[in-house]
Amino acid sequence: MNLLDGKVALITGASRGIGKGIAQKFVEAGATVVFTYVSSDDKARALEAELTAKGGTAKGFKSNAAEFDAAQTLVDDVMAEFGRIDIVINNAGITRDNLLMRMSEEHWDEIMNINLKSCFNITKAVMRPMLKARSGSIINMSSVVGVKGNAGQANYAASKAGIIGFTKSVAAELGSRNIRCNAIAPGFIETEMTGALDEKVVQEWRDAIPLKRGGSTEDVANLALFLASDMSAYITGQVINVDGGMLM
Ligand code: NAP
Repeated sequence: MNLLDGKVALITGASRGIGKGIAQKFVEAGATVVFTYVSSDDKARALEAELTAKGGTAKGFKSNAAEFDAAQTLVDDVMAEFGRIDIVINNAGITRDNLLMRMSEEHWDEIMNINLKSCFNITKAVMRPMLKARSGSIINMSSVVGVKGNAGQANYAASKAGIIGFTKSVAAELGSRNIRCNAIAPGFIETEMTGALDEKVVQEWRDAIPLKRGGSTEDVANLALFLASDMSAYITGQVINVDGGMLM
């Protein structure tokens, strides 16, 4: 018996990076995985093929998590095709870093819509089927930056801090219906997002982390698996860091 046998998981932003790592982990654990992306058609098709070749069921949908109506359409389509959604990972996210002095209104709004409003959009849409099933696990991807703040990331930090408030509120509202909601706060995880940083800066980050390395997508996926499964049946409203000790 695998941890996620018979479960359907919806993961936003899984054509690459952390979302992809979670999709791989969840298929290995027996889940049917539905994932979204916005531009990486080839990577999405490749991931579908990879997961299907492993004997799993996986389907990628091109769907912008920042759009309210698109989220409802997505959930309707998944329900029509797979009949249930047990797990949601609100993972889609981007950075538009700049010092506040130079940060544009456009980049502020873009970050809020893609990182924070996306959680509202998908959670609103998936609430109804989860309430009906009286069961569900919603996992939102925050960041240590949402807890600590970071110069040059006022927009990103605010969106990730917002996710923490959203997570705790949803946990309080839906707990009586056996729907859990938790947040993961990754530290420095080596993906395309952090790959854009200068190697010298990256090495400084690694040196400052007690475990002396950046995290892998699997490090985050392992926690997502725990929070998605019944292993964490009595855990809700929590923010759990996966950061090699960076924030302690
Ligand atoms: P990544 O490698 O840049 O991947 C981002 C994923 O999100 C891609 O699949 C991308 O799809 C998708 N995406 C972007 N905008 C979207 C939208 N509007 N709708 C749907 N999907 C969208 O990023 P990552 O490093 O894996 O980060 C994943 C999450 O973890 C983010 O929320 C990020 O803030 C958070 N996080 C990351 C780190 C880190 O160190 N990497 C640390 C803390 C938190 P396309 O391929 O189609 O563009």
